[in-house]
Amino acid sequence: MPAARVSSGFATTAHHGLAAHEVVLLLETDPHRGLSGGEAAERLERFGPNVLPPAAGAGLLLRVLRQFHHPLIYVLLVAGAITAALREFADSAVIFGVVLINAAVGFIQESKAEVALAGLREIVHTDAKVVRDGRERTVPSDDLVPGDLVLLEAGDKVPADVRLLREVELRVDESALTGESAPVSKSENVLPDSTPVADRCNMAYSGTLVTAGHAAGVVVATGSETEVGEIHRLVGAAETLATPLTEKLARFSKILTVGILGLAAATFAVGLLRRQDAVETFTAAIALAVGAIPEGLPAAVTITLAIGVARMARRRAVVRRLPAVETLGSTTVICTDKTGTLTENQMTVQLIWTVDAMVEVTGSGYSPVGELCTADGAPVFVDADAALRWSLLAAACCNDAALTHEGGRWDVVGDPTEGALLVVAVKAGLDPPQLVASLPRVAALPFSSERRYMATQHRQDDGYVLLAKGAVERILELCDSQMGADGALRPLDRDAVLAAADRLALRGLRVLATAVRAVDERVEFDDEEAPGSLAFTGLHAMLDPPRAAVTPAVAACHTAGIAVKMITGDHAGTAAAIATQVGLLSGRDEPGSLLTGADLAALDAGELPEAVAGATVFARVSPEQKLRLVQALQSKGDVVAMTGDGVNDAPALRQASIGVAMGRSGTEVAKDAADIVLTDDDFATIEAAVEEGRGVFDNLTKFIAWTLPTNIGEGLVILAAIAFGSALPILPTQILWINMTTAVALGLMLAFEPKEAGIMTRPPRKPGEPLLTHGLLARVLLVSTLLVASAWWLFEWERANGAALPEARTAALNLFVVVETFYLFSCRSLTHSAWRIGVLSNRWIVVGVTAQVIGQLAITYLPAMNAAFATAPISAVTWLRIFVVGAAVSGVVAVDKLVRRARSGGRRSTLDTGTFGH
Ligand code: ATP
Repeated sequence: MPAARVSSGFATTAHHGLAAHEVVLLLETDPHRGLSGGEAAERLERFGPNVLPPAAGAGLLLRVLRQFHHPLIYVLLVAGAITAALREFADSAVIFGVVLINAAVGFIQESKAEVALAGLREIVHTDAKVVRDGRERTVPSDDLVPGDLVLLEAGDKVPADVRLLREVELRVDESALTGESAPVSKSENVLPDSTPVADRCNMAYSGTLVTAGHAAGVVVATGSETEVGEIHRLVGAAETLATPLTEKLARFSKILTVGILGLAAATFAVGLLRRQDAVETFTAAIALAVGAIPEGLPAAVTITLAIGVARMARRRAVVRRLPAVETLGSTTVICTDKTGTLTENQMTVQLIWTVDAMVEVTGSGYSPVGELCTADGAPVFVDADAALRWSLLAAACCNDAALTHEGGRWDVVGDPTEGALLVVAVKAGLDPPQLVASLPRVAALPFSSERRYMATQHRQDDGYVLLAKGAVERILELCDSQMGADGALRPLDRDAVLAAADRLALRGLRVLATAVRAVDERVEFDDEEAPGSLAFTGLHAMLDPPRAAVTPAVAACHTAGIAVKMITGDHAGTAAAIATQVGLLSGRDEPGSLLTGADLAALDAGELPEAVAGATVFARVSPEQKLRLVQALQSKGDVVAMTGDGVNDAPALRQASIGVAMGRSGTEVAKDAADIVLTDDDFATIEAAVEEGRGVFDNLTKFIAWTLPTNIGEGLVILAAIAFGSALPILPTQILWINMTTAVALGLMLAFEPKEAGIMTRPPRKPGEPLLTHGLLARVLLVSTLLVASAWWLFEWERANGAALPEARTAALNLFVVVETFYLFSCRSLTHSAWRIGVLSNRWIVVGVTAQVIGQLAITYLPAMNAAFATAPISAVTWLRIFVVGAAVSGVVAVDKLVRRARSGGRRSTLDTGTFGH
């Protein structure tokens, strides 16, 4: 690949070969203040949005041709050609017509499903952090322009091609671009022009993922000018609609096709041996092949899945990988984060504990209106209590969040925990912007879920001060003294602090400790730990209320036989209290229902699965341990949905049967690893997605249960006719008519079937369970047999009573369709009677049946159709017979259901037993 790249209209340049200041000059930007808002808008106009053009995908012609690439279609084309050669032009026209209609329907359905899926990907927007006019702001990544100064940090997806200006320990996962899965380290050094893309360590490329560190850089290419845009243009990212299930079904129908073709050939041979008419035997063999192959199956499955994806999106779960729709329905365990998923992630500090005082804080939310007072309401003055003052200073200064006030609403930019600490500092009378000036920060050790604390160093009048805040045990590890109200340092009473923290945690409050130490010199945080010998100053206890929808959603999961486990980095006491509030723990739980990260670390691989299965709450767990948890559960055969938001959650999200990322608070790395993304971060949405997943599976089962008897029935009718050497009760073209019209007008409507009531009161489907359970298979065979027997009988009866062949065949054809229509209603519900779920509850069925009726009247009475399909008008009495037979078949099916239900002890039938309601 040539080193030089055209950068959206700026000079043709290899940006990695230029020094940082040259790149800045070339792109007419400022390395610190970025572009001006006006310039950015002007460039957006000039270069267009930072998006990739829609994938070229397969060309139109190819997509149309693909519709003909199916064994059945080959059979039909050959049949059409032979019938034409035999000068049976009407038959040949019908066969070719059907092939064309089939291709058109397939094409439309496939395009629709593709468009639906492509649209969904856009719901999950990516934001980019840029500096414009000297101010940091967040903009949709679509709005980036060449010359923009972007900021990158761990968890971000690189939004455009960027020449790095400054970086700290930046590591980027470039597998999307280079295929190399190990993250690469970056630096801002100038490189030779000839350096290949994979080695350009001073560039960060669009679509790659930042796994560690942070950086600032200038956008050098956007949209299709980026490296990934180039690849995109070359390859065309065609969206695949395949899932394990569709692939399995496609394989199944291929094997079936070969088997049926073999049977058809054998039939033809037998007919010839018996010296039957060659043309007629051939026609019969074709009819057998055409009738018995369930050609609509793969398309119906894809469409049902696509409809499921759309339904999930409406309930705020965006599916990134189609197989997740199938898997969701069989989820047995949901592992969820606490903060933000079960709770609002709207923190408010309510209490501050110091070794000498307990201070209450009034007010709620992020509005900094409230005050600090004692338990009896007396105001507390911060300047009178040194420990309280230093604790609040740590809260305000060892903090990367910012408070915003827009449109009368207070909000936080950054971590909600830090937002709450800023708010309490303001309530206490501190002024964070002024503190930035009076206590300038000189070094920082950022918060991470592994380290569980954050530390900063600030310059003050007489030297420096170290401030730290974080999980209580971690901060205490760094402390050897505690500060009193008078500012004097005393030896640390660790037990007293831990006891106070436990008391606060048991009330469901999230507790953070603060600490301080004056130092003479600057410290380097390069050993990834803050220096010890800090003085403990206080505890901040904050409320993060559970989300309203969570308690009912947890209860719904329990009724549905799905275990819910909380996995959190928070304190065991806080975790247990929130778990009790949302109904995960009952207060009478077995020992072992709460495990901490330390408990997990002490268990060996053999003990882990049992212990994990028995526990509900996992506290102080590090992201690495999440992976072990998922593996332990999976080793017991569980289908695990796991939530995550951080960079380090990615391995667990990938390992989980369904990785669930948070759309709002999640990093791009987590979203990239996930199968579904929750646009509202709410646990209740996972429950909703599982419900939809079950609905999708039900509808697939319904379609298969409905379609197979037709195919088997049609195949058997022809076989029987040849075996007995009698006239064919239905002709190949008529079979084609039945298959094509009913699959579209009747069968497909099952994909729109609403979820059944009680879908969340039955246990999860067993993983790996076949779609056709024994009960279902028996039902399919019963209906097939009834279909053959009744069609045969009606045909013979009509013939015996003087009907001509076309008339008798028209009667048999209509019988097939009527029985299928009756049976369609029977298949609409797996657990209830069709009448109980309301005949009109799926209006598509009504539309479909109406269309089918019109079609049947047309093929029976329109002279042109009579000529094309060799049908003939039939009398009202014949119709009556058809309906009586159709109703009788439906009655037998109903009785079969009753018997099955009685045998299963009146229990509400489930998919497991394969028994169906009627
Ligand atoms: P969950 O895993 O349910 O989202 P969490 O948000 O509590 O839980 P982490 O963000 O990993 O998990 O936090 C773990 C602990 O680290 C918290 O309990 C808190 O004590 C501490 N902590 C959280 N945020 C910060 C922060 N910004 N600075 C310092 N310490 C923090």
